[in-house]
Amino acid sequence: MIKRDVIVIGAGAAGLFCAAQAGARGRSVEVLDHAKKVGRKILMSGGGRCNFTNMYAGPENFISENAHFCKSALSRYTPWDFIGLVADYGIAYHEKTLGQLFCDDSAKDIVDLLLKECEKAGATITTRCDILSIEKTDTGFTLLTSIDEYQCESLVIATGGLSMPKLGATPFGYKVAEQFGLNVLPTRAALVPFTLHDKDKDTLAELSGIAVDVYASCNDTTFKEAMLFTHRGLSGPAMLQISSYWDAGDALSINTLPNDDPHELLKTARSETPDALLATCLNKVFPKRVVQSFITLNAWRNLPVKQLSHGECDAIANALENWQIKPNGTEGYRTAEVTIGGVNTDELSSKTMMAKNVEGLYFIGEVVDVTGWLGGFNFQWAWSSGWAAGQVV
Ligand SMILES: Cc1cc2nc3c(=O)[nH]c(=O)nc-3n(C[C@H](O)[C@H](O)[C@H](O)COP(=O)(O)OP(=O)(O)OC[C@H]3O[C@@H](n4cnc5c(N)ncnc54)[C@H](O)[C@@H]3O)c2cc1C
Repeated sequence: MIKRDVIVIGAGAAGLFCAAQAGARGRSVEVLDHAKKVGRKILMSGGGRCNFTNMYAGPENFISENAHFCKSALSRYTPWDFIGLVADYGIAYHEKTLGQLFCDDSAKDIVDLLLKECEKAGATITTRCDILSIEKTDTGFTLLTSIDEYQCESLVIATGGLSMPKLGATPFGYKVAEQFGLNVLPTRAALVPFTLHDKDKDTLAELSGIAVDVYASCNDTTFKEAMLFTHRGLSGPAMLQISSYWDAGDALSINTLPNDDPHELLKTARSETPDALLATCLNKVFPKRVVQSFITLNAWRNLPVKQLSHGECDAIANALENWQIKPNGTEGYRTAEVTIGGVNTDELSSKTMMAKNVEGLYFIGEVVDVTGWLGGFNFQWAWSSGWAAGQVV
């Protein structure tokens, strides 16, 4: 029987950070994880460079049934606090775009930082440990695991969401919540590429690898970022972002010319280059292959622009400005970066992350119904929620 003040289940971003905080307060802490390696998502993140926070992170960058829940934790441990820690470790970083901060070298720098913080605080980590059962006792919790039996006063669940099962994701955290009577909101894959119906997929397949800047809109939300055509469908930051707002059956509205007015473009072409083919005019603003596919997809007549009626030009401009495409679905948890939904925030204290009705049981990170946009927000939630629990467990 091993006794600890605090057991954290899940050695990912939130769990390791929380463990270091609690250890630094003098609590004896052990982190348990079923995987061979800790922080696997961190290592994979940001294309191997970990987009570890966003300078402008605020509550408006998060999706949750309760938009207010994340405010307290985010305001008490801010992006600047984590940036300060990264600087203390001498980790070089840069802003890629839109406040997104990435390591110059490797995501491993962030995992090393977390491990050193745990070591400094005396928090120990045990990997390849399966949790077989959890029971509440008068003084805390008893855990039966594949390694030993553990007892603790505070139990922190930091097992993340369902995305990327290959990296060790499981529904464990939701099951623990349900075991203790907490409500878990329905989950779905988010920050995930779209798949297309066969007809659209066949027409657009030849564009695989091409990226264009767009405004992507769905359900009253719009992102201006790049859209990437892939051999399976649509990806790139604009599509990943809008996937978090998309429900099955919804159409996406895509403005493929966010920096130009297509009506003006065609009007100018008709007056200045009336003999130029429609494709030639559109080639000024799109890669050639994109133009060809749009013409095929929309059955536009590729004639000299002077031969196109005003009505036809309007229809073309409208389609470029408001391309409606109904995805077939998404690539699902296999490639999703995050999971929307999870432990209902109504069940938790926004100050401590403790379950309101289960003394000593905490939920932090992605397992909670707080999901960030693409751009470093999800790690910031892991740090902020891990910090909040780390002060009190
Ligand atoms: C490919 C990819 C790239 C990403 N890039 C970024 C990025 O650049 N910036 C950003 O902000 N966010 C990014 N994210 C999202 C970010 O990684 C997550 O939101 C974040 O890791 C969540 O932290 P967490 O600690 O809650 O969960 P995780 O980091 O997922 O950690 C959960 C831990 O729990 C363990 N675990 C799970 N089930 C069990 C079980 N049954 N028993 C024991 N242990 C268990 C897992 O092995 C894992 O170690 C990315 C995600 C992916 C998949």
